[in-house]
Parts: sequence; structure tokens; C-alpha cells
Amino acid sequence: MEEIPGTKLFCWACGEYVPVRYGGGLCPECGSRLVPAAYDKAARVTAEQIDHEAHELKTLTGKLKEARNKNARWGFLRNLAFLPSVHAIKRFESEKSDACARRDALLERQEKLAHSRYYSSAWFRATGMCLRSDVGHGSVRDSNPFAAAHYVNHGEFKLETTTATKERRGLLGEYVAYDLLSSAIDAGCFGHARLLRNLYVPAGRGARAGKYETEFTEEIDLLMVTQKSVYVIEVKNLNAPVTVRHARGGKVEVLVGKPRSDGSESFCRDDAGPHQNTWHIRALTKRESDRIFASELVGITMYVDNCGFSVLVDQGSNGMYFATNTPGDYCLPDLIARLETNRPVVRTEEGVEALVRHLDMAYSDADGSKAKEHVRAIEIRHRSPQYAGPKRPKTKQGKRDRELEQMMDKAFSRE
Ligand SMILES: [Zn+2]
Repeated sequence: MEEIPGTKLFCWACGEYVPVRYGGGLCPECGSRLVPAAYDKAARVTAEQIDHEAHELKTLTGKLKEARNKNARWGFLRNLAFLPSVHAIKRFESEKSDACARRDALLERQEKLAHSRYYSSAWFRATGMCLRSDVGHGSVRDSNPFAAAHYVNHGEFKLETTTATKERRGLLGEYVAYDLLSSAIDAGCFGHARLLRNLYVPAGRGARAGKYETEFTEEIDLLMVTQKSVYVIEVKNLNAPVTVRHARGGKVEVLVGKPRSDGSESFCRDDAGPHQNTWHIRALTKRESDRIFASELVGITMYVDNCGFSVLVDQGSNGMYFATNTPGDYCLPDLIARLETNRPVVRTEEGVEALVRHLDMAYSDADGSKAKEHVRAIEIRHRSPQYAGPKRPKTKQGKRDRELEQMMDKAFSRE
């Protein structure tokens, strides 16, 4: 956890500053709900007021110009106080400076709303990750992609992010999914539902175990429990277009990258997201068979749409579901809401709470040690020797061969 700065929440309703711990709950001063949706609504109203003041300013600027032109006709007499045009100038000038002050106050309010919108989010409570603009750069985790928060256009929330590293991109993707789902839960879209993130589920022996018999873990990005289902969500934020399609043998593959104009796909790669999710679900089924029915587990792989996202297979084929963050049929909360309508209720609200409590206790990563273990286990898995035919010693000759191969590749691809 990062050190939480002396940040306070600005109440959108009464304008008081209250401690961050009231986020997600009620303002202790006025009782208003301090949740992202309420901030978004307040920001849309403020955006309208800003537009109104901007219009007002434009009108006043026009009137002032007109009055000055009129006044200039008086020549050397133009500074006489009794001239109506002098009066008009004074009036418009003071009205303009009032409108300016009102607009500036509204812009400042909008910044406060954006800032507190982030700190009122379930994401912030779950991760404790501050905006980089609030903490000294020395004390901020390098994986933190969240730079600052703003409302843009007509009250659209926008996080300014720095996604220089793969890790930061990943976290940003997780945030996008988490924010969509927690907002939908807050709006009551899935009935009684709870969301967990970063669960480490021991995979057990035999499952993906390597040569060293290490106990491997499956890292689940997001898990949502409703009264009807348990959703296991793998989130990917790849900086490339994503196409989900059928491969040979009825399999589903996820193509990452854009085929060239000549149709060659040699530099597209197949993303392992859905495959990883299958392993997560397998591990969970194995460990929690007395608490979770296999039939209620749903695996969804969500790709953040930043360069294009298209799905050419039916949802649910091979038990895989695909989602993204942009509006449309594949938008994550919409997909889940659709799935929920066709499923029977299998647990009570208390049942949801009990299961979430159990999963949280058993698999969440309170102090970060599980994440460390997990990374170490992955490293060991990659290092474990794999038999790949008789060994060929690496020699200078080998290196030269590779260089030759590369040169030939280049030469051929140019044709
Ligand atoms: Zn308040």
C-alpha cells in the first residue's frame, strides 16, 4: 500500500472536505452519497454551467467591443464620464469580470470533482493507489499508471495515465474493468453482487506443474460473485488490435496485431488470455467444489479496446466469453447483465457475502507476498529445463547462422 496523502474528499453536494474513508458511503456533513456516479452527474451539471458562462462571456465581449467602438467616435471627448458609451463600457467590463470569476470557480469545482471522483471509487479503496499528482514521485510505486484526474468535453471522466511499461498498461486495464463493474454493481445492474481482485489460487500438483514440483498459483485478475454466477475475468490491455476468431479444429484463437495489406499474418500473435482463464477456472473448481458449482462459473476475457476489437465467434463457444470496455454488445457489464437474465438463482444475498468473505480470506493478497511468490514460481517455471531434442552447443557458428537467417528473412520479405 502506498502512503495515503493528506487528500480529502470534496463533497459534490455541500462543498465540504471530508476524510477519504467516507468514499463509497455518505457525506458526514450533508448525507449525500459520495460515489463516482454522483460525481459524474454533478460534473455534467457543472459542465453545462461552464458552457453557459462561456457563452455569456462571448456575448459580453461582443457588447464591450461595440461600446468601445461607439465611444471612440467621440474623439478627444471619449473619456468624459457622462457619456452613455463610457457608462456602457464600465458596466460591461464589470459584468465580464464577474462572468470570468464565475467560470473560473466552476472550472476549479470541476477539477475538485474529478479528483474526488477517483478517491471515492471502489478501485481506490481496493488498491490504495493514489494519483501520481498527489504523492511525491519518490514515494509512488513505479507500476502506478494514474497521473491525474479530469473531466473533459461535457463532463466525461478521464484519467490521465502514463503507460510507459507493460505493468502499468496491465494495471490500467484492470482499473478500466474494475471501474465498469463496480459502477454497474452500484447501480444495481446485477442484483446483489461483489467484486474481488487479484486472487492467487494454488493450482495443485499436476496442473501446469513444472519439473521442480513447485506449487504453482493461478492469478485471477477479477472475480465477481452474484446470486446466480461466479465470473472469472481475465483483463488484457494490449497496445494492438484484437480479433477473436475460429482457428483450425474448432478452436478459438485471439489474433493480436494487424495483418499486412497482403494478408500475411506472420507478425500477429495468438494471445493466451482465454487459455489462462481456463486454467484459473480449473484451479478454482478443484479447490472450491463444495462452495461453487461448476455450472455457475463463467470465464470472460476482456480486452481493452485501444486499437480495435472484433469477435468473429459466438459468445460461449468452448465455454469462452469475450468482452471489451467500449459501448456495444461486447461491453463487459452489458454482457454480464445479459448472461444473468438467463441463469437461476443459486445463493442468497448472505450466501454471496459468505462466499466473498471466504474467497477473500483464502486467496487475496493482503500484504503483497502472494504476488511475489507467484512471480517467483513463474520464473522457476520458465527456467526449468525442457527437453527439446539433443543439445546443440551454442557456438559462434550458431550465432552467424542466426544472423544469416535474419538477413534472408529481410531479403525475402522485401520481395
Ligand atoms: Zn456533503
